[in-house]
Amino acid sequence: MAQAGSSESKTTAKAPVIYRCKKCRRIVASEENIVSHERGKGELSFKWNKRSGDSWETEKQQIDCTSIFVEPMKWMQTVEEGHVEEKLLCIGCNARLGYFNWAGMQCSCGAWVNPAFQLHKSRLDECNI
Ligand SMILES: [Zn+2]
Ligand SMILES: [Zn+2]
Repeated sequence: MAQAGSSESKTTAKAPVIYRCKKCRRIVASEENIVSHERGKGELSFKWNKRSGDSWETEKQQIDCTSIFVEPMKWMQTVEEGHVEEKLLCIGCNARLGYFNWAGMQCSCGAWVNPAFQLHKSRLDECNI
């Protein structure tokens, strides 16, 4: 279902990235499905950074996102079934790839993503085409 072409206008040196299930190698997402988010730094838009004495204050810039967030996709059967939050299972091998929640979830970097369709990087193979 990917729209092919149209990459001519701005071809950069960077190859597009795709994500496959580590177990069965099925492609579950590509770069264009990714919903990017600002790294949580605590200053922007959320109140929780005001909680004093919390671990939120120890956030540092090296915190990496351990997951990617994507848009809802056809293979996500639990989404199609109408759940509000549920596991995301690979349609090829049924491995658990992540979790989703329409109400939003927090990334490991501290940022909130809403709605959130989270795939764990550790369950995926990241490849350049
Ligand atoms: Zn993040
Ligand atoms: Zn799989």
